[in-house]
Amino acid sequence: PIPVIYAITPTYYRLVQRAELTRISQTLRLIPNIHWIVIEDSEEKTNLVSKLLEESELTVTHLNAKTPPFEKLKDKEPSWKKHRGVEQRNAALSWLRENLTVGNQKGIVYFMDDDNSYHLNLFSEIRKVKRVGTWPVGLVGGLNVEAPILDPKTGKVKSYRSGWKPNRPFAIDMAGFAINLDLILTKKEATFSYKMERGWQESEFLSFFTTKEELEPLADNCTKVYVWHTRTEKPVVRGLVKGFEV
Ligand code: UDP
Ligand code: MN
Repeated sequence: PIPVIYAITPTYYRLVQRAELTRISQTLRLIPNIHWIVIEDSEEKTNLVSKLLEESELTVTHLNAKTPPFEKLKDKEPSWKKHRGVEQRNAALSWLRENLTVGNQKGIVYFMDDDNSYHLNLFSEIRKVKRVGTWPVGLVGGLNVEAPILDPKTGKVKSYRSGWKPNRPFAIDMAGFAINLDLILTKKEATFSYKMERGWQESEFLSFFTTKEELEPLADNCTKVYVWHTRTEKPVVRGLVKGFEV
């Protein structure tokens, strides 16, 4: 059987939320064997997301986990000021660890933010992951692309082309790696945390599971871009028309 991809998507309410989630859910509709875990950053699950998930006809798990007030981004604050998605990704990891058993199924875990753009080829690459796989991410870190640099002799990851601290043990965006499910289930201590310095979540998290040398370079030896760290502009809305769910 082909391994199930557990796609973990944190999401929060804003005007573009339904548009973002529609875009991802319809991408996922084109992919077989996906289990979509959507975690709302909210006190309670909302009707908007519940309805969208139901209408998606995907295999889904719907969770909610609110970001504590001290970490919550203020409306006008630049987004790099706070960790984002920590509570939600941890809730998804807990769900996996509580509901699945090691060795029981073949799976791969991928963190799939609600605002990125995903090429269908990405999912075939994810499906090749044995332990931890990595690939380039477009439009991130102040570069057109961040990509692992391979040693031409060994074909292994040697260093990283990254706009920010390329010497981090894993200078890889959240969208640029996926991890074997059994590894996730085994290393229960691996979680995201507010204690980490901003920008170190990926690197610290990956350190629980692997080393740079063990990374599996995918997407044609890390030469292809199948995911983009796009960011949606906040729409300027001067009036709210009643009676519509946008
Ligand atoms: N997110 C969230 N609560 C927030 C801010 C972000 O749940 O207060 C989610 C968001 O929907 C996305 C992920 O966390 O799936 C990463 O956030 P964002 O895309 O804003 O981060 P960036 O792309 O700037 O790193
Ligand atoms: Mn984003």
